[in-house]
Amino acid sequence: MHSLREKVLEDGVVIGESILKVDSFLNHQIDPMLMDEVSHTFYNQFESRGVTKILTIEASGIAPSIMVAHRFKVPCLFAKKAKPSTLAHEIYQTDVHSFTKNRTNTIIVSKEFLSEDDRVLIIDDFLANGEAALGLHRLVKAAGAKTVGVGILVEKSFQPGRERLEAEGLEVMSLCRVASLKNNQVTLVEDAES
Ligand code: 5GP
Repeated sequence: MHSLREKVLEDGVVIGESILKVDSFLNHQIDPMLMDEVSHTFYNQFESRGVTKILTIEASGIAPSIMVAHRFKVPCLFAKKAKPSTLAHEIYQTDVHSFTKNRTNTIIVSKEFLSEDDRVLIIDDFLANGEAALGLHRLVKAAGAKTVGVGILVEKSFQPGRERLEAEGLEVMSLCRVASLKNNQVTLVEDAES
């Protein structure tokens, strides 16, 4: 997606060699026109898959996801970060290691909102090692539902997330693919829309 790639190149701030900050349009301040375009692109890709629910993880996945859900006219469900619960009969839960924060969170969704009839499109802001998306996919499987695709705004292609998701048989669409963050510079993968 050309406009997202331009934004990443213009406004992205590189931290170290592996973290990209995009606070001006996605992770702090949010650009709704850009999110609208994002939703359009994911809709075009996944509209034939019978999507019944958009699933993401709090907090930064919510903004693009609500726009995508609006486009599909389906609910947007976000997994919450929560303490491991003994109320296992009411929730699905799994552990996810956060790449940016270097800690493991338990994420949960209520059984009320995910059922075996659901066809789920997973959306997230970033793909790094694939931990968040794989955790969300485990919640979908626990409900007996199906993940019909994974839509990512910014994929860091030098990390193994995409390969790990594809190894699970998941279709991944990333709107902007970052090849490298070396030397404080953002280098994109050519022809990134796949
Ligand atoms: P993964 O679970 O694929 O290892 O990492 C993806 C998750 O970590 C996303 O939900 C995102 O919030 C966060 N994340 C990973 N790398 C980055 C990054 O470079 N920048 C930002 N802003 N978030 C990241």
